[in-house]
Amino acid sequence: MSAELIRLDAATLGAKIAAKEVSSTEVTRACLDQIAETDGDYHAFLHVASEQALADAARVDAAVAAGESLPSPQAGVPLALKDVFTTTDMPTTAGSRILEGWQPPYDSTVVSRLRAAGAVVIGKTNLDEFAMGSSTENSGFFPTTNPWDASRVPGGSSGGSAAAVAARFAPLALGTDTGGSIRQPAALCGVVGLRPTYGRVSRYGIVAYASSLDQAGPFATTVADTALLLEAMWGHDPADSTSIPSEPEPALARLEEGVAGLRVGVVEELTDVGGIQPEVRAAVETARNLFEKAGAEVDTVSVPSVEYGLSAYYIIAPAEASSNLARYDGVRYGLRAPAGEVATMNALTREAGFGAEVKRRIMLGTYALSAGYYDAYYGQAQRVRTLIIRDFARAYERFDVLLAPTSPTTAFELGAKTSDPLAMYLSDVCTIPTNLTGATAISVPAGLDAAGLPIGVQVLAPALGEAVLLRAARALEVGFAFTARPNLGGPS
Ligand code: GLN
Repeated sequence: MSAELIRLDAATLGAKIAAKEVSSTEVTRACLDQIAETDGDYHAFLHVASEQALADAARVDAAVAAGESLPSPQAGVPLALKDVFTTTDMPTTAGSRILEGWQPPYDSTVVSRLRAAGAVVIGKTNLDEFAMGSSTENSGFFPTTNPWDASRVPGGSSGGSAAAVAARFAPLALGTDTGGSIRQPAALCGVVGLRPTYGRVSRYGIVAYASSLDQAGPFATTVADTALLLEAMWGHDPADSTSIPSEPEPALARLEEGVAGLRVGVVEELTDVGGIQPEVRAAVETARNLFEKAGAEVDTVSVPSVEYGLSAYYIIAPAEASSNLARYDGVRYGLRAPAGEVATMNALTREAGFGAEVKRRIMLGTYALSAGYYDAYYGQAQRVRTLIIRDFARAYERFDVLLAPTSPTTAFELGAKTSDPLAMYLSDVCTIPTNLTGATAISVPAGLDAAGLPIGVQVLAPALGEAVLLRAARALEVGFAFTARPNLGGPS
């Protein structure tokens, strides 16, 4: 029974819970059992909240038993949270030793909204420290491995959430995407991951990395579940000054409208990016054919400035991070190194609490923002950002959505890129342009490579284009009919 339950998607589970075919408690126990049995191999979780999850589940079951209508179609379904979302009843570490033991005094807006929708929060997942990385190996605690092959990385920085959904520890999870941290791990773990338009999802209560690029979004096993989770979390939040005030356009209801007549542009520079694995390139070609077969009009498009995206990002993101991370001074949160004098305490706390990658980025960002260099680096990067925004706007005059790989390669071996930060940074070459433009994009599973590892393809849409984005992604999901799963143990 529990082996079957963990294989079901969130929409199916939610419907069964509402129809009293199964209880939320049974579903939650099935997920908790799967975590207990196999998370020792993957380390997707930093914190498993068994008691709270079972209490959440019992509340939903009581509402069902009392004949009350449930607050959402996903009520009673387990949800895993990347450990950057503040939660009053669980620690929040952002994967960093500097926040070890910190218990936030409030829930982030998205967590409050999802709790109100009846979500069962099952735990907090591992990540690269402060979401800086592409493999989860920069976690201050331990790396997460890929459920398809535990010698490989799950991607990052939201690797714990992607691995949790792939390993069926929860049918739904949340991540954040500053440069690709939802889409790249989704691709490497064979699940769906969506980065919403900047400002669509509240950032209130999310540990900040680079505030002009950060955005939270859903992971799921299907496009429909991705839409379901997105619709429960998005919308205006007065507590976030960058939150978009308009009402989002419904997406789930329009998922099956198809792509007949939709104009799809295949981004040349991203599809022919250096170092692309031939099987990933071939998957984009297959996606192109699937779109054509479904009635879309497909052509190639050039977005020349994306070539400079990575360089601009690695100035802008560290610059913003160096400012955001100044707050970890041993006074307000978490770790405090013993020292007699405040400035020494600040320095010793930061020395002990931050890992190597975080320190590298603070130094990079501080340098780029310093007097005399500001215009040469930060100013120049912002100009490049404007060029990329203009190039995409031009592409969207001709096309409704764009198509590209998500990651140039499938999951790489643990340790393969840890000694070469630049090689690691290249993992996000195809995802970063979306963050720089504030737009939305999704990664959809597109088959397996010769080693049996999942491949993801990416659909991109203009800002506020989630409805068309999800509709296009659904067409690819139908076309690829990806049903492979990692070995979950027990009967399949
Ligand atoms: N890998 C990119 C970085 O290290 C993106 C991370 C993210 O999206 N949080 O910055």
